[in-house]
Amino acid sequence: AAKDAGKGHWRSFHPELHSTMVERMNLRTDLDRAISAGEFTVRYQPIVRLVDARVVGLEALARWEHPLRGTLPPAEFITVAEETGLIVPIGIQVMRHALTAAASWPVGDAGPAPYVGINVSVRQFRSLGMVSGILREMHAAGLPPDRVVVEITESLLLDENEQVWTDLARLRAAGARVAIDDFGTGYSSLSYLRQTALDLVKIDRSFITGLDRSPSQRALVDGIVGIAETLGLTVVAEGVETPAERDILIAMGCTHGQGYLFSKPMTEQETTGWLGRKD
Ligand code: C2E
Ligand code: MG
Ligand code: MG
Ligand code: MG
Repeated sequence: AAKDAGKGHWRSFHPELHSTMVERMNLRTDLDRAISAGEFTVRYQPIVRLVDARVVGLEALARWEHPLRGTLPPAEFITVAEETGLIVPIGIQVMRHALTAAASWPVGDAGPAPYVGINVSVRQFRSLGMVSGILREMHAAGLPPDRVVVEITESLLLDENEQVWTDLARLRAAGARVAIDDFGTGYSSLSYLRQTALDLVKIDRSFITGLDRSPSQRALVDGIVGIAETLGLTVVAEGVETPAERDILIAMGCTHGQGYLFSKPMTEQETTGWLGRKD
């Protein structure tokens, strides 16, 4: 009875916490099952040159094809996947899909075949043999490393461990490129941009939304673009939704963008059709 009372006590005072813990445990079990069942797939979103909307690459975005709940975006599972370390096997499934798909994308006559952008979280990046794994998967898929951009976040660069820099240098020595994702949202420091291990900077959507209506946002983005350009980094604006945002980005000298204005994330089949389209 005391035990029951204890439970009742817990439930009455922390009902939300209790249900959150149960939900997380259930989600963990379900994620385990989904990994074995191979339920993780990928959507692809174009990254384009702003002046003419020509595609330069596509970002691979993980989805969970849940048998009961339908297609789930990362927001539904990434936190628990990170906490439990299940992001590592999920990341491998996603990477395999994406590298294999990219190997079959057409080489447009207008330019080189587009690259594929792969998101790698800090936890994934620090897991044993990550860089060797990425290089091995590229080789297995028959995709040249210069068609791969690894997207990392600023928090990885905060790591005191020299290993991170060695790993990033190894990726680049193999011919892959490195992008810093969601730039501006973390413990951003413009000094990170000086790191020689970086090729691209992706400015977070929160700075792009409403850019044409906010002088302070404009000043920030203008500053990032200017510094990146001086350092020889390619800038990609994330979450471009309107022609007004695109036009102001072009005026600032930002060369590349990604967002609903150009295309939403697409299935593999839609992607093939989109890439093969004749305007
Ligand atoms: P991200 O890497 O910054 O990816 C961009 C996110 O912005 C995507 O959300 C994309 O669908 C969304 N987006 C793109 N353009 C627009 C726009 O114009 N408007 C709006 N409102 N949204 C736009 P998604 O697919 O839900 O992914 C969310 C985050 O989950 C990603 O942010 C990334 O951090 C993470 N993620 C996705 N796939 C993977 C993966 O394979 N591994 C890891 N570790 N993380 C992943
Ligand atoms: Mg990304
Ligand atoms: Mg991003
Ligand atoms: Mg972002």
